[in-house]
Amino acid sequence: MPRRYHEKLKKLHAFTNFVLIDPEMTKASHQHSGNEHGNCGFRMFNMDNVEFPILVSVPHAGREYPDTVHEYLRIAPRDLIRLEDRYADRLVQPLIAQGIPTIIATRARAWIDLNRSVDELDPEMVLGQGGSRATSASAKMRGGLGLIPRRLIQCGDIWKRPFSAEDIQGRIDAQHDPYHRTIATYLGELREKFGSALLIDVHSMPPLASIAGVQPNIVVGDRFGQSAGSIFAEILMERLKQAGVTAALNHPYPGDYILRRHGNVRNNIHAIQIEVDRSLYLDSDLLEPASQLGSTASLLSGLIWSLIEVIGGTSLPMAAE
Ligand SMILES: [Zn+2]
Repeated sequence: MPRRYHEKLKKLHAFTNFVLIDPEMTKASHQHSGNEHGNCGFRMFNMDNVEFPILVSVPHAGREYPDTVHEYLRIAPRDLIRLEDRYADRLVQPLIAQGIPTIIATRARAWIDLNRSVDELDPEMVLGQGGSRATSASAKMRGGLGLIPRRLIQCGDIWKRPFSAEDIQGRIDAQHDPYHRTIATYLGELREKFGSALLIDVHSMPPLASIAGVQPNIVVGDRFGQSAGSIFAEILMERLKQAGVTAALNHPYPGDYILRRHGNVRNNIHAIQIEVDRSLYLDSDLLEPASQLGSTASLLSGLIWSLIEVIGGTSLPMAAE
């Protein structure tokens, strides 16, 4: 590894204990605006700063709801919050401040779920296609959480009526497709430059029930080793243990489409998911940021920096993976 790279890593690492929360995310390197389909629904940070072979993605924290959502909504707008990885974008603010390349969806997951494939579109969601079969009837889609979320537990159907095929295709073209193409292109460039690349997909989850008396506060997912070299999950689990944080690996969240699409271990492109318990950084209603947000964001930064050390080659060689 070049000496310059090593020093940069050391210098930046010194900042990981500082937390800089910038709710307006003023460091956006690209901003997009436009109408419902002209807005790509995500923001990118530090993407020009190619110092480390990593990219952080936050696909479910969007809080922007286009007018169509309200027009078609059957349930109370407040219930849609349950679909959000509420304020998970705030957890990565220190990393953005430290120059880490990050892509964050700003459109709500209710609009389109970036962690589903376009094949996971429930035909019942599409006007005039109610009787046809889904191209890919995944369990999540059948459970109401396909490409366009359809049902919520305790609330039932989210929408009053299906959307037009053109509307849904517009969402795919304007948001889903650009989000994934941006990630794929960027990881490809990192792989080219560094020989390997790592995508860290950040989510948050409702508090989990205890399993054998233990309640995991973090769930690490690598699709049982299919989306990333096992070293990354091992490092995360070890660091979490050292930090006294209860964690689970691949249960109940192994990672979904984002990991499936972008992880390519044989080509040295790795993708790993980190799910953070919302009670670690939100208030008791799981609605607004709480005082622990800073320490939880610091924890996440520390975890991600430990991965940067591995992928950057400062801790362990990747060649044997
Ligand atoms: Zn999520």
